[in-house]
Amino acid sequence: MSVNLTVDQKKIQAQAGQTILQAARENYIDIPTLCFHKDLSPTGNCRICMVEVAGQRLLQAACVTPITEGMQVETRSPRVVQSRKLNLELMLANHPQDCLTCDVSGECELQDLAYDYKVNVPAWGAKGTRYLPDSDPNPFIRVDMNRCILCRRCVLACAEIQGRDVWGVAQRGFEEQIVAGAGTTLLEARCESCGQCVAYCPTGALSNKLNYGLARAHQVRKVMTTCAYCGVGCQFDLLVKGNRVIGVSSNPGAPVNGMALCVKGRYGYDYIHHPDRVLTPQVRRYLLEGRQKSRTGSEWDWVKVDWQVALQLTAGKLASTRSSFGADSIGVLTSAKCTNEENYLMNKFARQVIGTNNIDHCARL
Ligand code: SF4
Ligand code: SF4
Repeated sequence: MSVNLTVDQKKIQAQAGQTILQAARENYIDIPTLCFHKDLSPTGNCRICMVEVAGQRLLQAACVTPITEGMQVETRSPRVVQSRKLNLELMLANHPQDCLTCDVSGECELQDLAYDYKVNVPAWGAKGTRYLPDSDPNPFIRVDMNRCILCRRCVLACAEIQGRDVWGVAQRGFEEQIVAGAGTTLLEARCESCGQCVAYCPTGALSNKLNYGLARAHQVRKVMTTCAYCGVGCQFDLLVKGNRVIGVSSNPGAPVNGMALCVKGRYGYDYIHHPDRVLTPQVRRYLLEGRQKSRTGSEWDWVKVDWQVALQLTAGKLASTRSSFGADSIGVLTSAKCTNEENYLMNKFARQVIGTNNIDHCARL
């Protein structure tokens, strides 16, 4: 059922049950938010999305207020703008002024809103260091609660996406703070180090330890890729500085996983530039020189070759094995680390090229 309402003097139609925020955004009317994220339940606690509704004495949080027939909404009235400025001022009064060295400067939602609303840091408030920076020993997640604006996105991301309920809110008033478990460390509170809370944090309160201080948003190129660890096909952006991969960030447009990643996809990228990584095919010397198998001396050494040589050797061995012992003397074992398409091709290779049904997958071992 559709509902008729007016937003900033523009008549719009929206679906019954939608919030003012949903109705406005669907009609290209921007209402700023901080605690709201489309993937998470709305909580209405940051008060940035406040709007004026005709007939209501108080401003309403657009992210949690449902639309009604004939509703009249103002999203940019002087009263609304003044309220947003005041809320931003309150956040900045309790926020360290360390944007110069903050990792997320340039992609911080608080910074952007302060800029948009021309809010200066007030002279009053407690802008100093209240908590230990880098306060948690988790090897992947850097916690600096001095930069926290208590939006609770981390709490919701952990509970609703990862199902771990690691983060919670402790204390009240000025002492209110986000804590892991009952005020313990992340790992003791059963954190899986998936980094979802980092991905949803709008400020630098939660950031990635592995690339902390290596580059900020404007210093990297983002290259979308598909995770190499398993066949689910999660996608994300590699953060590339120069010709080095320095990190990973969620790509909200990833069709399979959205912003979600597991610890391997998000933090297991150091193999890319690891000195032990094998970058070229290698064959045993006795094979390369066409001699009988020998495990002794330099005969057993690995020799680096190009792909042409490696593939020719492999194809030759497979062909001679099949002609000597039959197709069923060959078996093909594929891998969960391949894509679905690669596994499909190996199935075709086994059955149609080699001629055997001996095809299996490492997931069954
Ligand atoms: S890393 Fe994952 S499991 Fe750990 S607190 Fe963050 S969202 Fe929860
Ligand atoms: S740590 Fe980040 S996501 Fe969590 S409440 Fe603070 S600002 Fe919000």
